[in-house]
Amino acid sequence: MKKTILISLLLGCMTATLMAKEPIILPASSNFTLGKYGSFKFEKANDNVFIMHGPIVSPNKENEGFMNNPAVIEGEHGLIVIDPGGNYNVGKKILAQIENVSKKPILAVLNTHKHGDHWFANKAIVEKYPKVDIYAHPNMIKAVKEQGEAEVWYGILSRTTGNLEGTKTFAFPTKELKDGQKIEVDGQNFEVMHPTVAHSDTDLLITHINSKTLFLGDNVMRGRLGSFDDSSSILGNIELLEAVKNDTNATLYVPGHGFSGNKDETIDPFLNYLKVLSIEGQKAYEDDKESYEVKDEVMKKLIHLKDWDAFEKNMAAHLNKVMIEIGEAELEEDDEKEEEDDEE
Ligand SMILES: [Zn+2]
Repeated sequence: MKKTILISLLLGCMTATLMAKEPIILPASSNFTLGKYGSFKFEKANDNVFIMHGPIVSPNKENEGFMNNPAVIEGEHGLIVIDPGGNYNVGKKILAQIENVSKKPILAVLNTHKHGDHWFANKAIVEKYPKVDIYAHPNMIKAVKEQGEAEVWYGILSRTTGNLEGTKTFAFPTKELKDGQKIEVDGQNFEVMHPTVAHSDTDLLITHINSKTLFLGDNVMRGRLGSFDDSSSILGNIELLEAVKNDTNATLYVPGHGFSGNKDETIDPFLNYLKVLSIEGQKAYEDDKESYEVKDEVMKKLIHLKDWDAFEKNMAAHLNKVMIEIGEAELEEDDEKEEEDDEE
């Protein structure tokens, strides 16, 4: 073979190699990637608190049903996990990422509420740690075990994400935490708050006392709008967030979806959104208008949130819901007045 041919062949090979840009293959546990959403890992968010902020979008095939904010609290001998994620497969990937934070065993799991995108991944943790305690509000335990909420969410997530293999049989929470209750696990102290109705009727807001971190569950979303189901109350959610603003003094606030931050930057955008809905809903109610008649006007007042995921889709539904709540509250007030008048 002539020298020139050999050189050009060699050069050809080299260019092909350079152009192919072979991905560097990392050990499975070091990389959790989800298509266009990029890669995810736990990052130190406060003292001994590590959070993985999931994609800020609705459930879909590409995010594989992962879009919440799993958290790990590291104690001396073990770990406590909050809301491990939305299905068994995601749970296994989260577990691998937890091991990058620490190889200590998982001692307890806390779930913020009944929606499957937060707790279905309990399954992966129970598979590895069969004796792990899983805490939730008693209403959540009842809703998912007895009232069909787990099945409802299995349906929602299999339609939208199709990544539910292995999630059944469900790994339900096993231990109850009621409003105001405190627990200690491996020197880590938690106190929970349960609003009667806010994002749902099963919510726990969890304070990790050691680090002063407040996990808000889906009572706050940042960068996306979710839905308000039949067990929720927008007016209740507003009342709760105003109380949290007044009465808490954490150093880090963690929403159910979207980035964590200080109190105002985390809570205000969502709280103000709900307040605009309630004020405009009240006006429309008093003017005898339907929500669809005022929706475009209200949307203009919220235009600064137009880039939030599912904003257009969900805003109109939320306005309609708050108007129904306002109507119901007025009816209740009327009934109470009548009763008082009867007594006189
Ligand atoms: Zn939720």
